[in-house]
Amino acid sequence: MSSGPRSGEFCPRCGDAVERPSEADLPGGPKDPDSVLCDDCYFEDFELVDAPDRIEVRVCSQCGALHRGKRWVDVGARDYTDIAVEETAERLSVHVDAEEVDWGVEPEQIDQNTIRMHCLFTGRIRETPLSEEVTVPVYISRETCDRCGRIAGDYYAAIVQVRGTERNPTPEENDRAKEIAEEYVAEREATGDRNAFITETKETKDGLNMKISTNQMGQGIAHRIVRELGGSVSDAPTLVTEDGDGNEVYRVTFVARLPPYTPGDVIDLDDGDGPVVVTSAHGNLKGKRVETGERYEADFEEGIAPDARKLGTRADAERTTVVAVEDERAVQVLDPETFEAKTVPRPDYMDPDADEVPVLKHREGLHVLPDGDEE
Ligand SMILES: [Zn+2]
Ligand SMILES: [Zn+2]
Repeated sequence: MSSGPRSGEFCPRCGDAVERPSEADLPGGPKDPDSVLCDDCYFEDFELVDAPDRIEVRVCSQCGALHRGKRWVDVGARDYTDIAVEETAERLSVHVDAEEVDWGVEPEQIDQNTIRMHCLFTGRIRETPLSEEVTVPVYISRETCDRCGRIAGDYYAAIVQVRGTERNPTPEENDRAKEIAEEYVAEREATGDRNAFITETKETKDGLNMKISTNQMGQGIAHRIVRELGGSVSDAPTLVTEDGDGNEVYRVTFVARLPPYTPGDVIDLDDGDGPVVVTSAHGNLKGKRVETGERYEADFEEGIAPDARKLGTRADAERTTVVAVEDERAVQVLDPETFEAKTVPRPDYMDPDADEVPVLKHREGLHVLPDGDEE
């Protein structure tokens, strides 16, 4: 056994004898030519951290998307400082042989578009603790992403129209259809799909018009609307046009045709059994007779559009005082307009102990409607 350097172990750069035990763990190994240097020479050129002079972060000023690699990605609406810190972490590299690496960063906002990142790194190499401070300016470049550019350029491939059958959609139906479309797009966005967007939403006197980014989504949205609000979807002839770059654009109009009657409508079927308050327009029309409370269901051929006329809706009903329950079939209530006591049919959905009930006065008379949201 001998102590000290073995013969031939001299630093190839300074020529000094290298004094270290032969079993010393030299990071880098034979792949790294610097691994044979003495500690002094090794640390002379050693850089713990490799940092670029500056980092540019491209963000979309409209939607907050971040340009990463070769594409725009949605990162959600967040502080640009968070994004700048993340990008800094991505772009700085620590020497591969360093161990126990730790780092911290302190962002310093210089102006609206510049954040100076003060980064402190610590680590160990050749059993020597090291620390290094680097400062990197991060520039936020505000741009318009491809999606926002297309929206601004009025790009769309499909139109979804929400229409009624011999009526106009109600404001509630228009609002809900708009929400359904937004939910649909949000679900697609959540999967990272940046081709999902609504270019324009417009309420016209006939209903809602929405410009949608793809045919497939236009179709999906129209079907989801009728699945919830009832009705059916048809697609109008394809329109082919050219976009600004000369590419052919196929446009399809999907019409979500809502049923003639919707839940809450009170309709007269003229079948001798009295008016019906509609409870569902899915598949075929369903409801309750307002004179008896019996269930009504249109037959298969009639579907959602039996021959009927509308007398009013539950929204038109007024609460009035119950004067007396006469018997199983009759109740006395105050006429909400004249305040005279009137005997009207008593449907079985009416609570006999109620002091007040909703009534609808219409051209066929006065009827007690179901209370609240009960079916
Ligand atoms: Zn040396
Ligand atoms: Zn954008």
